[in-house]
Amino acid sequence: MVLRDLPQLPNQIVIAPHTRQRLVAEAGRSRDTRECGGWLVGHAFERGVQVIDLVGQGLRTKRERSSMELVGRLAEEFVSQFDESIHIIGCWHTHLTEDHRPSDLDLEAWRYYFEVFGEPCRAALILTPDLGSGWVWAVPRLHAWMVRRSRRETELICEPATVVEAV
Ligand SMILES: [Zn+2]
Repeated sequence: MVLRDLPQLPNQIVIAPHTRQRLVAEAGRSRDTRECGGWLVGHAFERGVQVIDLVGQGLRTKRERSSMELVGRLAEEFVSQFDESIHIIGCWHTHLTEDHRPSDLDLEAWRYYFEVFGEPCRAALILTPDLGSGWVWAVPRLHAWMVRRSRRETELICEPATVVEAV
């Protein structure tokens, strides 16, 4: 997977305010100084995705200081309740530092999800703490990335995305 600093065309991750609030609340689990994360569920469109719901990580998820491992089966089970327009559209996780770039491990995981769950599974959010404040997880910073196939389909590309508030 190739990591780019700038997108060729804008990528959008649309999220409703209440879903974003839930995401922020979930990210607060990292107060125990281990990464946490989960899945994003919703619709995919030409240059982006719309997040409809979140799926938790499950109790058996392995969580460490600088990595975590998501359980895909939980997202698959959740999505199977709905019609075909609802997909696993990506995942989110926290970093404990202000480093908002995906690690090599992150890129490898995202490539795997993209291949296993299909092209709708392309959004990736990284939440980082606000280390300048006393309540570092009260208002975490949200960083968005998106995976796509290169035009020649020879490789996968990961680029920054923009988070857009749904109305
Ligand atoms: Zn990471």
